[in-house]
Amino acid sequence: MIFLEFAELCSRLEKISGRLETISILAETISSLSEDDLPHFCRLILGKPFPEWSGKKLGVGPNLLYEAVAYVTGRKREEVIDRLSRVGDAGAAVEELLSQKSQTSFFTVELTLADIMAALIEISGMEGGRSQKEKVRVIQRILSSASPLEGHYITAILLEDFRIGVGEGNLRDAIAQALSVDPGLVEYANQVRNDIGEVAVLARKGEEALRQVRLVPFHPVRMMLARQGTISGVLEEGDPVAVEYKYDGARFQFHKQNKTCRMYSRRLEEVTSAMPDVVALLDEALPDDIIVDGEVIAVQNGHPMPFQTVLRRFRRKHNIAEAADAITMIPNLFDILYYHQEMLIDLPFRERRNILTQVASKYVTPQLISDDETEIEAYYHTALDAGHEGVMLKVLGSRYTPGVRGKDWVKIKPEADTLDLVVTGAEWGEGKRAHVFGSFLLSVRDDDRLVPISRVATGFSDEQLSWLFDTLKDDVIRKEGKMVFFLSRLVFEIGYSEIQKSPNYEGGYALRFPRFIEVREDKDLKEANTAEDVEERYIQTHRSLNS
Ligand code: AMP
Repeated sequence: MIFLEFAELCSRLEKISGRLETISILAETISSLSEDDLPHFCRLILGKPFPEWSGKKLGVGPNLLYEAVAYVTGRKREEVIDRLSRVGDAGAAVEELLSQKSQTSFFTVELTLADIMAALIEISGMEGGRSQKEKVRVIQRILSSASPLEGHYITAILLEDFRIGVGEGNLRDAIAQALSVDPGLVEYANQVRNDIGEVAVLARKGEEALRQVRLVPFHPVRMMLARQGTISGVLEEGDPVAVEYKYDGARFQFHKQNKTCRMYSRRLEEVTSAMPDVVALLDEALPDDIIVDGEVIAVQNGHPMPFQTVLRRFRRKHNIAEAADAITMIPNLFDILYYHQEMLIDLPFRERRNILTQVASKYVTPQLISDDETEIEAYYHTALDAGHEGVMLKVLGSRYTPGVRGKDWVKIKPEADTLDLVVTGAEWGEGKRAHVFGSFLLSVRDDDRLVPISRVATGFSDEQLSWLFDTLKDDVIRKEGKMVFFLSRLVFEIGYSEIQKSPNYEGGYALRFPRFIEVREDKDLKEANTAEDVEERYIQTHRSLNS
């Protein structure tokens, strides 16, 4: 596929809002792609050149891009930054800058999708001291051959800021439509393989190929997620449920095969070398050829410590042994996904749990099975008294559904009034905080758009504000008076007293008394709350206030 064709398609899709039309345009393109282009296309159209499980990253921040764009367009870096601030969208700004340049350029090489992928792979492989310079050189090379429209989407891919309104669901349905397979099977295969590019290739082979997908060690799948709920709500279904402590630590997936162990975080980053103590414990407690799911907590004097303690260890690159000596980390295992060449995710939870207790010699999460509200409530209070976050209720007959936040796992915890929101902007502070950002603009997800819902200025310590400034300062893509806007990466957990209807924000809702609780570094944008969640909570509270 010629990359210009891809860019034109993106531009066309961006202007469409109808789901069916998006799917049909995508399906038409998918059926015309070559075998080689198909997987690349499916990944790139979601703005994610590499499968999530692969751990490959581009690591291109706005600064690198400014440098490359300045070089290619023959402008000063400041001019580029200024243009970006005025246009607001980095892709659109690069398109504009390139279009002014192309009037005077005589020669461009035709780029293909494969050329762009090769360049992205090259960038992702660059590490070490000189890598920044080398990355700039590769970006310069592709941007020099790019037309303005191509430059627009290359920029969006490089900055991981690709929002053309094609979600995973639309792409899944388009693959199904184009290749005449059941969308449910495409979804299933994608849960197992965690790579829509590979799944599209299987779909072209037919439904049987999709049914045959298997989990294998060292190819992590997304974690199954939980919904918020109430004990009585879950018991309404009439069946006994499994009740487990909800540990306040960090989620992990542990894989072991041929005596090699690897541990992955909730975002599927490999954390094996940061957690040698936990890996050693699990290696000893588990047999070979296995994938398990759990939560690791930090413990001091028998009491759980805040979950940031564990996250800090996940991020640690130096003095790991000392850190491991200082705080005890304990893994808690609550699920098994694969054992001895067999994929277990389609078995009911009750059976997976039996296998887990048989094969793991230690660390299996205690469990109560009950349909008695009073008994479950007592268990919940025991969990809170022991310093845990609450309990998880799990449907005994449920499959393990990677990446799905369904009704099969329900979390019960005291503070329900928090939301996970994406930080999309900030305003400079005042007085002694004038050198850092003092308040932040927060947004909810609405499909692949981010819609502002609140600002937060309370709950931060000075250390947190300077950490936030250091973390976010290079992500600024637009300035407007005292406000700056970010390429959005961080998720804040925000407490609030009430959700109100408000004309001040585009989404129609605002938070009353928002306060900062945590940076949720373990969550990525996909896991932030949605506009729909906010509306649902608003309706729920108003219903209970009126009843
Ligand atoms: P939340 O992060 O509030 O969406 O709650 C879901 C998270 O709770 C999961 O992703 C796990 O990291 C964590 N968790 C703690 N204990 C358990 C448990 N027993 N079963 C499943 N998840 C648990």
